[in-house]
Amino acid sequence: MRALIIVDVQNDFCPGGSLATARGTEVARLIANYLPSELAESNDYAAVVATQDWHIDPGEHFSEQPDYVDSWPVHCVAETRGAALHPALDESLIDAHFRKGRYEAAYSGFEGTFGDELLAPWLRSRGIEELDVVGIATDHCVRATVLDGLREGFSVRVLTGMCAAVDNRRGDAALDEMDGAGAELV
Ligand SMILES: [Zn+2]
Repeated sequence: MRALIIVDVQNDFCPGGSLATARGTEVARLIANYLPSELAESNDYAAVVATQDWHIDPGEHFSEQPDYVDSWPVHCVAETRGAALHPALDESLIDAHFRKGRYEAAYSGFEGTFGDELLAPWLRSRGIEELDVVGIATDHCVRATVLDGLREGFSVRVLTGMCAAVDNRRGDAALDEMDGAGAELV
């Protein structure tokens, strides 16, 4: 069985947000169109999961002089509009929200929790062995989620047209790295 993992498609990572990617809104709309048509036509997904950066006090992850590699402007503060999923996404189609980074940097969705459950056991308990990953940002949280998914033993496809990078050159390098680690780029 397969799950769709929607990584960090949050307002702060879309144009108008505090840490916007150029294609964030476009990617949100593509996913918003893909999901209901996929569920209606072939329904390959046993579960649809969204991950969210969800910061309370993440220490040096936030900086007034961010380097955009390890430190970032304030973004995705828990319970704010910036941390909410892009409004194009239909929340009723999402089975679980895994939130990460409350008190530290957390790039991988596998660091996220839903209630007190981590993503990998949640997926395994539903018989899910295959993942499709989409979202933001290719060079950071998508990359970390895909690599962790492979390490956890899942078969992972990256739907590259529905991923947005912070930096396009780093995004392409991250896709090469995911490919080399065993992900299938679609
Ligand atoms: Zn963050």
